[in-house]
Amino acid sequence: MLHEFTGVKRIAYFSMEIALANDIPTYAGGLGVLAGDTLRSAADLSLPMVGVTLASRAGYFQQKIDGMGRQIELPEMWDPALHARQAAAKVAVQIERRRVWVGAWVYRIEGLTGGCIPVLLLDTDLPENSVEDREITHFLYGKDAAYRLKQEIVLGVGGVRMLQGLGFEIRKYHQNEGHSALLAMELLNRHKYSQRDLRPGESPYDAPAVRSLCIFTTHTPVEAGQDQFDYDMVDRIAGGDFLELTEVRKLAGDDRLNMTRLALNLSDYVNGVAKRHAEVSRHMFPGYEVHAITNGVHPHTWTSEYFAALYDNMMSGWRHEPEQLVRIEHVPNQLVWDAHTNAKQRLLNRVLDTTGCALDPAKPIFGFARRMTAYKRPDLIFSDLERLRAIAKKQPFQLIMAGKAHPNDEGGKHLIEQLHLHARELGEDLPVVFLQGYDMHLSLDLVSGVDVWLNTPLRPLEASGTSGMKAAFNGVPSLSVLDGWWLEGCVEGVTGWAVGNAQAGNESNDVVDLYAKLENVVLPLYYNDRAGWISVMKHTIGKNASLFNAHRMIRRYATEAYL
Ligand SMILES: *Cc1c(COP(=O)(O)O)cnc(C)c1O
Repeated sequence: MLHEFTGVKRIAYFSMEIALANDIPTYAGGLGVLAGDTLRSAADLSLPMVGVTLASRAGYFQQKIDGMGRQIELPEMWDPALHARQAAAKVAVQIERRRVWVGAWVYRIEGLTGGCIPVLLLDTDLPENSVEDREITHFLYGKDAAYRLKQEIVLGVGGVRMLQGLGFEIRKYHQNEGHSALLAMELLNRHKYSQRDLRPGESPYDAPAVRSLCIFTTHTPVEAGQDQFDYDMVDRIAGGDFLELTEVRKLAGDDRLNMTRLALNLSDYVNGVAKRHAEVSRHMFPGYEVHAITNGVHPHTWTSEYFAALYDNMMSGWRHEPEQLVRIEHVPNQLVWDAHTNAKQRLLNRVLDTTGCALDPAKPIFGFARRMTAYKRPDLIFSDLERLRAIAKKQPFQLIMAGKAHPNDEGGKHLIEQLHLHARELGEDLPVVFLQGYDMHLSLDLVSGVDVWLNTPLRPLEASGTSGMKAAFNGVPSLSVLDGWWLEGCVEGVTGWAVGNAQAGNESNDVVDLYAKLENVVLPLYYNDRAGWISVMKHTIGKNASLFNAHRMIRRYATEAYL
């Protein structure tokens, strides 16, 4: 069954979450969508890769919002047997000094030109395991730290063993975030010096050999966001099988096992996901070389059917070579506007069907959808309701929002309640709609159907952000704080608009600037200069979609990290 994949050496791409398809809930947000887009572009370009992730049979969670704006979390079970084929191998890992069996499902990502990438979905839900162990691969980002460590043993250690068990030959191991860093421990065990050659006190592990196999992409610009485990827990859960703790301490930190440290110390190539993020990472991790490969999104996945048809007609190779979108100037304005109008109508129909709200297609819509958490500041635009109301009364606009808060993020859940409160307070003066259950399909409908994509994170915490890139594929400009990718994508007034300046530390100005841009620049352009507006739309396509795509991103990984 796997021989079609095992004849060529592959890059193994490890990620705790991978967004494979809308109806497979093995992702929580941006990290998983990026992983899926990376592998989809690799499939389109026939780059030999293999994905490794967890089956997450209970998904992340299904989101409902009650009458008070409170988030309700329901399990989202899925059946891997309906989407993937069971692999023949089983491997064992040690957890709490007992043996836990790991199986795998093979999901196929088919590229547009015949390429295909297998993704292994690791699964401990096997009859030979105890009831408790069968749940290890069920809940994406679920339960507590001990549960997380068990998942990371399955992902990192189990993943390497499964690749070997299935006969894969691996050229490099790419860790998408630190969750899979235990894979390098497993590799250390396979790269030992013979005892005879060792001087007393010398490490038995050939770390340089392991480093030359490993690539680490960091995504977290704050220390607190990184996975860290107490060593007594590490000993209780991971002890007994692989490395001695003295060796682990040298590589992963003295006080606690820090997965980011471990990955940094055992990877020859390390990168951040945008230029600014790489700079921030260099300050956080002095002494490590941190490269920058700015993220991108998968062209076909994130382009509405209306723009895809237009591109197919006018720039027919764009799916394979999105750089062709620089030729958007050849496309008549009316065709761009028509494609957008169709996507907008589709979104408005969805809003009407799901909420009963009839938004007005003649008025501009601003979209804001992402993980609901404090640093993303979804409430920034509501800072001064009187001012906001005054702006909307003169030049009416509408706002659509969506996003899930992690079940343990009380602050994020509170923000969702606040948004509902503000929507009620604003009433008819500024229609605000919150759509439940943010997923890939809703994301596509939003980034293609709104007129402006809004993003107001607290600098420098948005490592990259990718939803604004998706919007660019649909001719939708961003109005965004200068952080992450937007520092590279924003040409003021040409591809969209900046909120505030690029420096962290003067956040208080952001909301003043946001209101001023809305009132004096963005809304007047929309209402008074349609040709000028369409020109901005075209530049988002020609200057940003052509650049911030996952084809360009994976080609850079290939030439700078993999080969
Ligand atoms: C693209 C996407 C994200 C990430 O968006 P950001 O702009 O990086 O926050 C999160 N969730 C879903 C469902 C997405 O499609």
